Amino acid sequence: MANFDFDLLVIGGGSGGVRAARMAAGRGAKVALVEAQPQLGGTCVNVGCIPKKLYSYAAHFSEAFEHSHGFGWEGAAPSLNWPLLKANRAREITRLNGIYAAILHNAGVHCLSGFATLLDAHHVQVNGKTYSAKHLLLATGGKPHVPDITGREHVLTSNEIFDVEPFPKRLLIVGAGYIACEFASIFNGLGAQVTQLDRGTQVLRGFDQDVRQFIGTEMQKAGVHMRHGTEVTRITRAADGLHIALKDGSALVADAVLYATGRVPNVQGLGLEAAGIAQGKQGAIVVNDHYQTNLPSVYAVGDVTARVQLTPVALSEAMVVVDQLFGPAAGKPPREMSYDFIPTAVFTHPSIGTVGYTEEAARQKFGAVTIYRTDFKPLMHTLSGSSERTLMKLIVETATDRVVGLHMVGAEAGEIVQGFAVALKAGATKAVFDATIGIHPTAAEEFVTMREPVANRAS
Ligand code: FAD
Ligand code: NDP
Repeated sequence: MANFDFDLLVIGGGSGGVRAARMAAGRGAKVALVEAQPQLGGTCVNVGCIPKKLYSYAAHFSEAFEHSHGFGWEGAAPSLNWPLLKANRAREITRLNGIYAAILHNAGVHCLSGFATLLDAHHVQVNGKTYSAKHLLLATGGKPHVPDITGREHVLTSNEIFDVEPFPKRLLIVGAGYIACEFASIFNGLGAQVTQLDRGTQVLRGFDQDVRQFIGTEMQKAGVHMRHGTEVTRITRAADGLHIALKDGSALVADAVLYATGRVPNVQGLGLEAAGIAQGKQGAIVVNDHYQTNLPSVYAVGDVTARVQLTPVALSEAMVVVDQLFGPAAGKPPREMSYDFIPTAVFTHPSIGTVGYTEEAARQKFGAVTIYRTDFKPLMHTLSGSSERTLMKLIVETATDRVVGLHMVGAEAGEIVQGFAVALKAGATKAVFDATIGIHPTAAEEFVTMREPVANRAS
């Protein structure tokens, strides 16, 4: 039998890679992890979920100050110290980087710093040195994609926006997906004049139609200037800022332009072609149901496979691979991954939480569905002076009474929908929702008190 340096060599120290390396080492495997960046943690920790959520908290304070007046608080709102927010964020991220390094070290993972290139089914080169492993795991993530427009050199992506200097008083955001919408809400809350450019007619393609329309309206009410149905043709720098020419013939001036036009798999220089690993659209690594590439010893998980680009999905996939290769945790069955009923949140203001099917997809899959929908002014805003509303929607498969979709736009939607995701995953019916006692007074109780279906919405 061949002798290898390691049982498992992981390329990429982000969400999927770190989880796989740590767990495999915990099962007694000899594991190495290679990370190209000086710090561990990948997209989520360094330029994704975590700093984004910290900035989202920061942005909420401006509306909290405004809302407080109706509750008797007086005095001028404090102003934002942008350099201080950035420094505090950076300090917290550095702390997390250290925790990741410590976790891997304590688990006995051999960490290598450098860019890894695949040589063949069992060999990887890092800093000119070759390492062999019985199994390889590719978890190299994704990176922002900016279309080829004139003036592309002037734009920022989500990688740079966290440290932009100075604070952009006028910010143009191109795109209408998760990142564009979240940063539109964040910078709007932080005090920028935000224009969001959507080439389509509604933000967040793929989300439930009611949710898309509702969040678009709420974001505009909150101050985001939405422009639909147009695209950028050229960006030039002038003394008074960046001049942006649009396809519809109009023009804009901004201090910064953020492109949030999707992400592509991070495969450049990885050596996939030479090693003969099959790739799909935009270079995504093709894997089977066991996350195995066409080379049986090489596995891939997370954003580089371009399935569902979410941290908990990368983590879950990583754990499935480890169970397959090194056996499940003591007393537990091997983990399986299911792509049904993955809950997700968009941290807009107000936020979106969703699990299961959209109304459109449910009609296609199940035929007859019954829809329950409510939108209302949350209790807090009866005094806050805000006109913000909350939307809740349930989609029920009529034949079985099973709740197959649950959607919310409103405060803490992610926190609320996480709990309901368990119910949907467990196959809860509308009758179970009806039999559940609400928690009063909350917004979430509406999900168990919706009695009347929306009329006249048959397919
Ligand atoms: P990554 O975390 O990207 O890790 C890949 C690592 O591989 C990187 O550290 C990279 O440097 C390294 N690497 C690449 N090539 C090589 C090489 N050849 N050699 C060595 N190392 C290499 N998801 C959520 O669930 N919730 C959120 O709120 C959320 N917010 C987000 C906000 C933003 C702005 C962005 C961009 C993403 C967000 N995501 C969110 C998505 C989430 O960050 C990703 O789905 C997740 O990080 C994917 O994990 P991964 O392990 O596949 O890749
Ligand atoms: P998305 O795929 O969500 O959205 C991309 C957006 O860019 C779409 O609105 C798309 O429009 C638009 N677009 C694409 N190409 C162009 C172009 N040439 N010109 C103008 N607009 C264009 O990508 P994101 O970058 O926002 O995020 C990537 C992924 O990261 C997400 O899908 C999500 O999985 C993950 N993420 C998760 C978060 C969370 O969990 N809260 C937060 C942030 C990211 P159209 O719809 O017309 O194609």
